[in-house]
Amino acid sequence: MSSTTQDLERIALDVLARADGPVGAYDVLAALRTVRPSAAAPTAYRTLTRLIEKGLVHRLESLNAYVACCAEHDGSAPLFSICDDCGTVGELADPAVASQLAAAVGREGFEAEKQVIELHGRCAQCRTA
Ligand SMILES: [Zn+2]
Ligand SMILES: [Zn+2]
Repeated sequence: MSSTTQDLERIALDVLARADGPVGAYDVLAALRTVRPSAAAPTAYRTLTRLIEKGLVHRLESLNAYVACCAEHDGSAPLFSICDDCGTVGELADPAVASQLAAAVGREGFEAEKQVIELHGRCAQCRTA
């Protein structure tokens, strides 16, 4: 029995959903190999790209890692808070922030097509520890 594209997407999403923090492409690849031993890095990247296009997964640019989407957002860019101590990543959707950023660069005549909003710092738990 051969694994389908859907199988790979389901497994990748499962790895991300179960993880405590962001997951690298090679950890996703390791999981994919459980059903498709011949899978190589491009398979992992293609699978992750499809999940990103479906809005189920986000790529954290500053960490070069991936997280399952865990916020409600209709088209607006997510805001990520990344704890540099424990690695916890929070996701929230704030359309006002996204549109203010787009408006700010728009005043310079720039048309934003993609927003990456990642804030590094320490989470509430680490700050009180
Ligand atoms: Zn999201
Ligand atoms: Zn923390």
